[in-house]
Amino acid sequence: MTVSTSNGRVLIVGATGFIGQFVAEASLDAGRPTYVLLRPSSENHSKNKIAKSLQDRGAILLNGVAKDKELMVKLLKEHHIEIVISTVGGERVLDQLCLVEAISSAGTVKRFLPSEFGHDVDRANPVEPGLKMYKEKRQVRRLVEKLDVPYTYICCNSIASWPYYDNRHPSEVIPPLDQFQIYGDGSVKAYFVAGTDIGKFTMKTVDDIRTVNKSVHFRPACNFYNMNELAALWERKIRRTLPRATVTEDDLLSAAEENRIPQSIVASFTHDIFIKGCQVNFSIDGLNETEVSSLYPDEPFRTLDECFNDFLMKMKGENTKQSNEIPAPKPVVEAFAITATCA
Ligand code: NDP
Repeated sequence: MTVSTSNGRVLIVGATGFIGQFVAEASLDAGRPTYVLLRPSSENHSKNKIAKSLQDRGAILLNGVAKDKELMVKLLKEHHIEIVISTVGGERVLDQLCLVEAISSAGTVKRFLPSEFGHDVDRANPVEPGLKMYKEKRQVRRLVEKLDVPYTYICCNSIASWPYYDNRHPSEVIPPLDQFQIYGDGSVKAYFVAGTDIGKFTMKTVDDIRTVNKSVHFRPACNFYNMNELAALWERKIRRTLPRATVTEDDLLSAAEENRIPQSIVASFTHDIFIKGCQVNFSIDGLNETEVSSLYPDEPFRTLDECFNDFLMKMKGENTKQSNEIPAPKPVVEAFAITATCA
């Protein structure tokens, strides 16, 4: 089987979404012929704006939905698509079953990356309602493998940001300015990856022969933090300390049990990451897995420190907009001076 696609055409399904934008931008940055599948719904202005900006950068827009198998076969063949990357949202994971069948029928595709972009769903076992999404992602994996579609599963861990337990896109929110909510004792570590690096490294894997039929785990050593360290990092940026409130394991389980979608899904993942340690409780040594920093040792990751600088700039920008002046930072107080507990 040939796996070298040498700048083959890329189709991104879900490019107007949160993760999809990073991937589409990275595909264009890498100079790849980039096609974007757009669901028809012209009323959504922000989606249209994103699509237009991708088009302005050279992306070719195609209309369609992933679960229209016949149309997908036609589009894949007509445009000689060699790489398909799906970033459909958690609620649409099963739409990919038709897409996988279409890829298998079309015969042009040399690599498929299903919508993963989180944990290794065959290993991690979050409580419900997060588990339902993992079961669906597993279902997609099994079909990919059954139909012999060459794949890469991107397990990029957490997006670089304060991991709010009720927000599915936490990197859109500035870290706390009133108090930190620390999960458990705050000592369980996780890996944090900037959205732009999720896109950049994803695109590196798509025609790398070393990543065919493998899970690629993102474990940048520079971005390995627990909640206490994350809080201390942000305190150094804002130059003041904040009180800490403990969010216990039971608090997270109760939030998950409320079954509010998507917040409860995020709570169940938060429990899995910061209580159970799902990102760190295994080593990457299977035949079908590899780690991204060892594949591309000379390619730097954006550090969490840099990402938090971005939040600081955003915060100052917002303050400037509101009051037209940047508030003077308060004096530094010893970290961990104030500890509050809520339960
Ligand atoms: P979003 O909901 O933000 O975006 C989903 C995209 O998929 C949209 O562009 C949407 O189009 C498109 N889409 C959905 N269904 C179809 C379909 N049938 N056909 C064509 N396009 C479709 O998703 P996220 O970015 O939040 O999630 C993407 C993946 O990333 C998921 O697997 C999720 O679990 C993971 N994730 C990981 C995070 C992390 O921290 N590691 C954080 C967030 C997500 P439209 O614009 O029309 O709605």
